Amino acid sequence: MQSFDVIIIGGGPGGTTAARILAQGGKKVALIEDKHWGGTCLNCGCIPTKMLLGAVAPGSLLRAQERLRVVKGNVKVDFTALQGRVSRFTKGTSQTLAKALAGSGVTLFEGLGTCLERKEGQPRVQVVCAENRTDMTAPDVILACGTASAAFPGLAPDHQCVLDSTDLLQSAAIPESLIIVGAGAIGLEMADFFSAMGSKVTVVEAASHVAPTEDPDIAKEMLRALTKNGITCHEGTRAKDLRTVDGKAQLSLEDGTVITAAKALVAVGRSPNTEGLGVENLGGTKTPRGYAQVDENLQCASGLYAVGDINGLTLLAHAAEHQAAYVARRILGQADGPYESGPVPSCVYGGTEIMRVGHTATALLQQGKSVEVSQAPLSMNPIAQASGGTAGFVKVVWHEGRMKGIAAVGAGVSHLVTVAQMLLKEGYSGHRLHEIMFAHPTLDEIVPMAINAPRKAVTAG
Ligand code: FAD
Repeated sequence: MQSFDVIIIGGGPGGTTAARILAQGGKKVALIEDKHWGGTCLNCGCIPTKMLLGAVAPGSLLRAQERLRVVKGNVKVDFTALQGRVSRFTKGTSQTLAKALAGSGVTLFEGLGTCLERKEGQPRVQVVCAENRTDMTAPDVILACGTASAAFPGLAPDHQCVLDSTDLLQSAAIPESLIIVGAGAIGLEMADFFSAMGSKVTVVEAASHVAPTEDPDIAKEMLRALTKNGITCHEGTRAKDLRTVDGKAQLSLEDGTVITAAKALVAVGRSPNTEGLGVENLGGTKTPRGYAQVDENLQCASGLYAVGDINGLTLLAHAAEHQAAYVARRILGQADGPYESGPVPSCVYGGTEIMRVGHTATALLQQGKSVEVSQAPLSMNPIAQASGGTAGFVKVVWHEGRMKGIAAVGAGVSHLVTVAQMLLKEGYSGHRLHEIMFAHPTLDEIVPMAINAPRKAVTAG
């Protein structure tokens, strides 16, 4: 039985962040990973998707200049070369990450980690790798096992023509046509990339609009951009059955319509990697959707924490890192209050982007709160004008004179997310906003313009 101060299961952004901080703080740390160091984010999530989008981004900028009649010609993306680059980069970074962790004193285990019942009150974990089993114990265990693509009856990837996001990211060729079920961030980013690469893309979303967690006006602008790029969108439409038939993906909608395509992506959410993990063996419980249940200290039970996707609070890499840093500092005795996320930034990337920090107007109205909004169009911004990407706007959501959320839609708006977060978190509005000098010309200037714009009351419906 090996002894550690902390055992961490899962080597994604959550697990590796906690391991690094704890090792720096002098703790003896074991980190267990069964597939790939860097987790979903590095290997089949944030990073590969952004590398793909990065390759088609210049084309999108050039097309905007072409519409202004100042650019002519074509730029072609070599998909095989691009996939090679993504694969080399993610594998190389994964190895570098593991080396850096080992170099900082973290003991790495490659294998599947399972929680075992406590012995003399002390948590135990087993790692299984092929024929080898290693048992270990520590006073604190952190679960950072993340999530996998969710599947529902009738909507389950068969990995032939019906794919999950990991399958699609590993495609050897661009499908001539592609159905995407689910228009959240993953669905929209895949739609943007594969459409830019020449696929005929059809998006099906059960909610009343694409980008279902955003305000309808933001979603409407996104829909306009998708449609302009030749992407067919079915909003408020339920997918009933998706399967491979005669070498094609065949989707039946609830209204009886049947759509076929070379491939289909199921992007209807994520489900937690808690199956067989043994959370209960250490006194933890699961939510009805299978996530590890945590309290306000991200604790599942005495000496058991869960950070990142696995606790279901926020399924984003930076949230996993933020939570992990809090738990690591808590174990080191440097944080005693409850976990505070602050406003959580989120983005959808691509030719047309969405960013948001804080609440939507819709969410506040649903809580029965009075809401005002102020807005500024990207067409007022010199950098947006220079790049020809003037469609879209920044929207500020107010409740009782206080900023509650900042969102934007348009080309390049993901770059506004940190400035928006700082301004929102510190409450920079009114005379306080003048304390900050914004560089001119920058895309950032559109955010204070939206904050200072006249406010209009909005009502539900
Ligand atoms: P993960 O990154 O999932 O890491 C968990 C690790 O634990 C995995 O490597 C897994 O193999 C391992 N593991 C699981 N069970 C065990 C076990 N029993 N034993 C040992 N190891 C185990 N987020 C963003 O913030 N921005 C984005 O742009 C973004 N884009 C995305 C695009 C796609 C296509 C996808 C799928 C996700 C995207 N995400 C994005 C979400 C982001 O990847 C996750 O929120 C983030 O990776 C969660 O980090 P984590 O550490 O909680 O879990």
